[in-house]
Amino acid sequence: MKGICILGATGSIGVSTLDVIARHSDKYQVIALTANNNIQALFEQCVEHNPRYAVVVDEQKAEQFQHQLTAAGLTDIKVLSGSAALEQVSTLPEVDTVMAAIVGAAGLLPTLAAAKVGKTILLANKEALVMSGALFMQAITDSGALLLPIDSEHNAIFQCMPAGYVAGHRSNQARRILLTASGGPFRQMPVEQLPFVTPAQAVAHPNWDMGRKISVDSATMMNKGLELIEACWLFDMPADAIQVVIHPQSVIHSMVDYVDGTVLAQMGNPDMRIPIAHAMAWPERFDSGVAPLNIFDVQRMDFEPPNYERFPCLRLACEAARTGGTAPVTLNAANEIAVDAFLNEKIRFTDIAVVIEQCLEKSVVIPAATLEIVLEADRQAREYSHEIIKQLGH
Ligand code: NAD
Ligand code: MG
Repeated sequence: MKGICILGATGSIGVSTLDVIARHSDKYQVIALTANNNIQALFEQCVEHNPRYAVVVDEQKAEQFQHQLTAAGLTDIKVLSGSAALEQVSTLPEVDTVMAAIVGAAGLLPTLAAAKVGKTILLANKEALVMSGALFMQAITDSGALLLPIDSEHNAIFQCMPAGYVAGHRSNQARRILLTASGGPFRQMPVEQLPFVTPAQAVAHPNWDMGRKISVDSATMMNKGLELIEACWLFDMPADAIQVVIHPQSVIHSMVDYVDGTVLAQMGNPDMRIPIAHAMAWPERFDSGVAPLNIFDVQRMDFEPPNYERFPCLRLACEAARTGGTAPVTLNAANEIAVDAFLNEKIRFTDIAVVIEQCLEKSVVIPAATLEIVLEADRQAREYSHEIIKQLGH
């Protein structure tokens, strides 16, 4: 029986993880569940999974949540609040496995803390790795933690790597990674219409059901840019050895191109319970609850190179990947602020890339040598981005 802590339990990945756990309650025991402020969803999860700890980051909501649990007679669950509680539960001795599924930079500290104490990390929170790749991978090596990718593309690449492959190491058999992308909802929309797309249009992804931030990232293709940086760290590959491939059907979830000319692909229905179940059962396999892929429904598979004019965010991310240092920290922070402003209808869809580009121009890149440097670059980029958004003033 393994003890699991789910950081971001109430989100799309968190909910899928609990769905997989419910099928394997003989193998996993829920030790801790965390939420930012959605206490209703967290309450229902507590009733079903009876964790030892429940974290509500928002302190006022936590009080309300405690009353709700008490009224329901769930007095054994310890309620914690504030963001420091996230690190507290991700490093508990009874936790073997941490599902890192908080969205954005907020996931960095608890995920890094778990890596430092040698937990098995199931990594969905790509922003954490984008921000602190070198420090994070070093923490994994130093502590002997096991790192398993949850992002569907990275999980696919991991599955296509040679037997015994360990994340963070360069495989001398693999020549290139083919990182697939659906192209999102605006792959074919005339470019001159892009400034007028609404948040509702942007979050309606054609193939995947995800949280709002990553859905917008998929629409701008910043998601693929963040994933390219994530892949550089997870597979110790240079950005130039990673080719982004638009594959609108999302049947292949990524590929590895070997030195002998073999290309291995991982396929399946687009449901995150597949990579989640893969990582939870690794190195074995168990049922994910996902229906088998009906190969006869796959009438065709298309592949095309990405268009950087349509998707300037992807270009900016590729440049930041090559620049390294704090450039990806700045890129990520500016993107988080810009996406939030777009979702709150303060800027246009096409302004997201403008904010990020101007923020990158304003920021000085230095080596991301310490956590303090990373956090300061993140803070500064957020400040710059707010200023840039004010100046855009639509
Ligand atoms: P989501 O918005 O559905 O859920 C986010 C979770 O994080 C929620 O539980 C929320 O309470 C928590 N959270 C948000 N802000 C927080 C804060 N400041 N402090 C503490 N907790 C906070 O997001 P999601 O779609 O589940 O994505 C989670 C992560 O997984 C992201 O990094 C995303 O890129 C990655 N990911 C998601 C998918 C997917 O299919 N949804 C696929 C691949 C990777
Ligand atoms: Mg992905």
